[in-house]
Amino acid sequence: MNMDTHWFMNWYWQEATEDEQTLFEKMIRFEQEYFGDMLFHYGSNTYELIHILSKDVNAQEWVDDSAPIPEVLEFFSPEMIRLKIENTDEMNGYYNHSEQVLCISSNSINDDSALLHEMIHMHEGIINELPMHYHDMVFWSLYKSLRTSLPELDDIITNHAHILNETELYESGGLHDILFLLKSFDIDIGMGYPLGTVFGYGKMDDFKEYTVNY
Ligand SMILES: [Zn+2]
Repeated sequence: MNMDTHWFMNWYWQEATEDEQTLFEKMIRFEQEYFGDMLFHYGSNTYELIHILSKDVNAQEWVDDSAPIPEVLEFFSPEMIRLKIENTDEMNGYYNHSEQVLCISSNSINDDSALLHEMIHMHEGIINELPMHYHDMVFWSLYKSLRTSLPELDDIITNHAHILNETELYESGGLHDILFLLKSFDIDIGMGYPLGTVFGYGKMDDFKEYTVNY
């Protein structure tokens, strides 16, 4: 493993409060349950896009294998991220990619959708630093898996992508692009939430007319 292991040292467990430790354990569970596709894990929806057949020079048989992926994906662990709880009324949380800090407001520590929302930002932060095709691969896998659960998905995306909506979201801060929207739907469905819960920004009202096949 070539990755700078000092990354792990940014997170000092003993400095964390009890609430931060509890929330971090939840983050680990959510990470395993919902974010394998954003890391191209075996068995996730994106795995087919890195699946290859390989054969040793002297071997007869081709075997199932995976193409190498960037180390930031292969070796990612939530332990690289500093999870904090802050007293703030202004927002449910934020993710700062350059400092690798994921923060949840003390008012939102019991709101799992707030943590899941910031975890999407965390994973998109990693994906978006890679060549654009990694973003495409995650995007396509999510679209493909969601279109059966959400028959009106194309309409929802068209409305989301409209300049007035995208501009308003952009001005409110954070990257809430179509990939973010799709991943938030994927988790809404996994958690059994009404559509738009993880996305937030009052979108639950906008989406309540749409059919969801849970
Ligand atoms: Zn956000």
